[in-house]
Amino acid sequence: MAYIVIDNERCKGCYFCMKYCPRTLIKKSTDHNRQGYFPAEFDREQEERCTGCKTCAQMCPDTAIEVYK
Ligand code: SF4
Ligand code: SF4
Repeated sequence: MAYIVIDNERCKGCYFCMKYCPRTLIKKSTDHNRQGYFPAEFDREQEERCTGCKTCAQMCPDTAIEVYK
């Protein structure tokens, strides 16, 4: 069992995490943050599919993703 937490305010909406998640568990939020970016959002409905591989966190240039296992 694994999941990720994305810090909405750190996210600058580059979507590298979305592109590289092997399970496509990250999507774009419909709400913008205080900087005006639409942050990446973990798809909690598919949480059980997350392997905790940390690829998303490693790809994030803004260290906005924490992975929990
Ligand atoms: S890689 Fe980081 S900054 Fe880029 S969209 Fe994902 S969480 Fe946001
Ligand atoms: S830890 Fe791996 S499987 Fe889970 S959201 Fe990140 S890239 Fe996807």
